[in-house]
Amino acid sequence: MDFELSKEQKDIVKAAKEFAEGEFPDRAEEFDRDETFDEAIFKKAAELGFVGVFIKEEYGGPGMGMLEHCLITEEFYVVDPGIATAILSAPFGAEIVEAFATEEQKKRYLPPLVTGEAVMGTALTEPDAGSDLAGATSTTAVRQGDDYMINGSKMFITNGDRANYLVCFVQTEPDNPSRHNRHSMIMVETDREGFEANHLTGKLGIRASDTAELSFNNVRVPCSNLIGETGNGFSEAMHLFNLNRIAVAAQAVGIARSGLEESIRHVKKRQAFGAPLSSFQGIQFKIADMFAWIQAGRNLVYEAAWRVDQGTIDHRLIAAAKSFCGQMAVKCADMALQMHGGYGYLAEYKVQRLYRDAKITEIYEGTTEIEKIIMARSLLA
Ligand SMILES: Cc1cc2nc3c(=O)[nH]c(=O)nc-3n(C[C@H](O)[C@H](O)[C@H](O)COP(=O)(O)OP(=O)(O)OC[C@H]3O[C@@H](n4cnc5c(N)ncnc54)[C@H](O)[C@@H]3O)c2cc1C
Repeated sequence: MDFELSKEQKDIVKAAKEFAEGEFPDRAEEFDRDETFDEAIFKKAAELGFVGVFIKEEYGGPGMGMLEHCLITEEFYVVDPGIATAILSAPFGAEIVEAFATEEQKKRYLPPLVTGEAVMGTALTEPDAGSDLAGATSTTAVRQGDDYMINGSKMFITNGDRANYLVCFVQTEPDNPSRHNRHSMIMVETDREGFEANHLTGKLGIRASDTAELSFNNVRVPCSNLIGETGNGFSEAMHLFNLNRIAVAAQAVGIARSGLEESIRHVKKRQAFGAPLSSFQGIQFKIADMFAWIQAGRNLVYEAAWRVDQGTIDHRLIAAAKSFCGQMAVKCADMALQMHGGYGYLAEYKVQRLYRDAKITEIYEGTTEIEKIIMARSLLA
């Protein structure tokens, strides 16, 4: 067993860190305050090869592994989770296209994601269907000749108002006796008539990232936009979750690490009772706990990612990584704010943003509770 990153992986970490540290800090507070983003930063990240690194060479990507994607993710999230989300979510759903689409679809949809010419999203969640995706998703796609007619609405869709195309989880086989076989994935170009996206404001964190509610009112798409087989939508969604949950765990590690780094800086500088905060054992214990938890979380991420790169999707290990790291990020961000005292409560201090940004890692791509259900079911089966 080798715990050392390769020279190439270390170079990726260095390049990601340099890019993020050079581009994010000057704009992070502004994007968070105004809930905006500057696409020029995304384009630059894409030009430098940080977007869709897992996409294979024949579809325009560098064909790196999940581990490399996680290395970049951690470095970006250390510097600013909001900007990192806006950049790294831009090819969200490419995993589905790569695994299930036809050759023609892969060649059409994937290369523009790597170059930054296009943005994608995946629309699963609905106003009344989140964790219970298979049981409650009600947006329909009804076959009419060579087309599908789509009607319904989606909620909380990352890049919903920004994407060029969205892979949508829709009900195509309502009568199938198995709820896991009633849905399909269909690509919807966002300039189609009847499609509307409404950018949501007022999010707690990752405010540079676009989140939207969508409505489909008789949106007609050709049947050739079906991704994979009809009735296979749930499996395709699970494939995406399995891969992306590892990336979310890496996001959480980045946020927690940022909390630790900010705290170390602060407690060495800030004085109380005539001594730096760092001299108090109560503070030292917090710093030590954060370090150990981050290390444990990162090891879960690396193992889950490494196994994917070896061809094994270990959904129980992935659920462990996602649930542990999400809770760890929230706890570390809380401890970081606490160590900053009143200053941590102010917007100008990064820990306030981290405290708000951390929470999403416990919610999207399957909540902490859903990850625990996955682990417990597997262990008790
Ligand atoms: C910023 C943001 C971005 C997002 N991006 C996307 C996106 O790009 N695409 C997309 O499709 N979705 C996206 N989502 C949606 C996200 O995946 C869902 O919010 C999440 O899956 C939870 O679903 P829900 O909000 O409907 O909560 P619910 O399913 O209503 O759950 C509410 C609470 O009940 C708990 N719960 C539910 N069932 C059980 C159970 N059986 N046992 C115990 N507890 C349970 C949950 O864990 C949670 O704590 C995004 C959400 C946010 C906030």
